[in-house]
Amino acid sequence: MEVLISGKTKLILGGEVASAAGSMRADLLIEGEKIKAQGMPGAFAGLEVDETIDASGKLLLPGLIDPHLHFNSPFMGTVSVHDFSNGTAAAAFGGITTLIDFSTQPKGGSIMGNLSQKEGEAEGKTYIDWSMSGILLDASPETLAEIPQLIRAGCPTYKCFTTYKHSGRLMDDAGIFRILRTTAEYGGMLMIHCEHDATIDRCLEKELSAGHFASIYHARSRPAAAENMAIQRLVEMLKQEPAPSYVVHTSTAESVEIIQMARAQGLPIHSETCTHYLALTEEKLEGPNSQFYICSPPLRTQRDVDALWQGLATGCLEVVSSDDAGVPTKDNLRLGQGRFDKVPSGMSGIEARLSILYTEGVHKGRISLPRLVEVSSTNIARLFGLYPEKGHLGPGADADVVIYDPSGSWAMTSKSLHMNTDFCPFEGWTIQGHVESVLCRGAYVIRDGRLVGKPGHGQRAFRRLTF
Ligand SMILES: [Zn+2]
Repeated sequence: MEVLISGKTKLILGGEVASAAGSMRADLLIEGEKIKAQGMPGAFAGLEVDETIDASGKLLLPGLIDPHLHFNSPFMGTVSVHDFSNGTAAAAFGGITTLIDFSTQPKGGSIMGNLSQKEGEAEGKTYIDWSMSGILLDASPETLAEIPQLIRAGCPTYKCFTTYKHSGRLMDDAGIFRILRTTAEYGGMLMIHCEHDATIDRCLEKELSAGHFASIYHARSRPAAAENMAIQRLVEMLKQEPAPSYVVHTSTAESVEIIQMARAQGLPIHSETCTHYLALTEEKLEGPNSQFYICSPPLRTQRDVDALWQGLATGCLEVVSSDDAGVPTKDNLRLGQGRFDKVPSGMSGIEARLSILYTEGVHKGRISLPRLVEVSSTNIARLFGLYPEKGHLGPGADADVVIYDPSGSWAMTSKSLHMNTDFCPFEGWTIQGHVESVLCRGAYVIRDGRLVGKPGHGQRAFRRLTF
């Protein structure tokens, strides 16, 4: 094959290149920050390059993207464990090359003001590329007027909550309608945390007044019905005010059915689940360290886990995110004081996502390798406006490459990971294969299992929706 090259070049030879469409053995030519070409094995023989990487027996995946996590995030009297330095390093160990955090509108204040502050926190500190989604706390004329500004600033996605009334984060239905209309008008996408607040309120009161404070009552106080009802309400609202919407952290079997039916009716609804909902059940809330497994929505049952995998395999669920939101374990214990309702909810999982998806998904035959690529990279690039720079390894894409060695297994523990926490939700799990090396725009961030990247290599990704 004849190719003209200039700039620093790398040739990755003999790997199994995976895409959303399939996988095949191919050689990958990188020029500077970009994928220059893919060719049949041997296609670039004789080409002079700066570095040759032998990837025979390895999988080559497009860098993973995580669209849901909380870095440097104040929450219930503490702050999440990851910042833009240690969090992006842990992400890179997990094969992630781009992540999207949140910028939260201050109560009654300006989201654009917070966005520049939050971007200031990330600028120059990240090992991998990054962007922000907004979090909207009201739907005032001033806030709605900022939606097109967010979109123009390259952050065309923003989240709101149907719950958390007590902490002032609930968006009422009238507000959701207004945001949907503005979203349709300007071309953004609404991310939405669906749990019906009044249902939770009622269940919470019932458990607390019965003196039920153990971790398992967290799950009882946030039943599947609350999530299902909120998603069903969103579906009905979309029939009146259709606008691209993305349900975050779907966790129930019924929600998969509701979303599937809504999509079959042509409604613009998308959804993700998270690593922990695919791997853990509410039994964790009755075992050791139960307070560290408290997250919202709560862990569900094996029936839900199976339905989520099914939804992933069939295409109804389009994305798996981490919702990385762990707080220091000592703060969890100090603030929780043995009461589920006082525990700052959330788990750290930014690094474990690919390992769990590969082991529990591909290795155990629940999803194919192309499907793994789709739900952890390609679909996210498309839905969040990062395509075609991100999400695939075709010519012209950013050279964000994960070299995954599928052979061998290891035990995942908090010590074998690089997250800034002494708690791993998947402690002791046997993981098939490992992330060997990770390139972000052509530069090594992880090389042979060691962090070699530099904080500040990561760039702010400008996102533009195309649907
Ligand atoms: Zn979250």
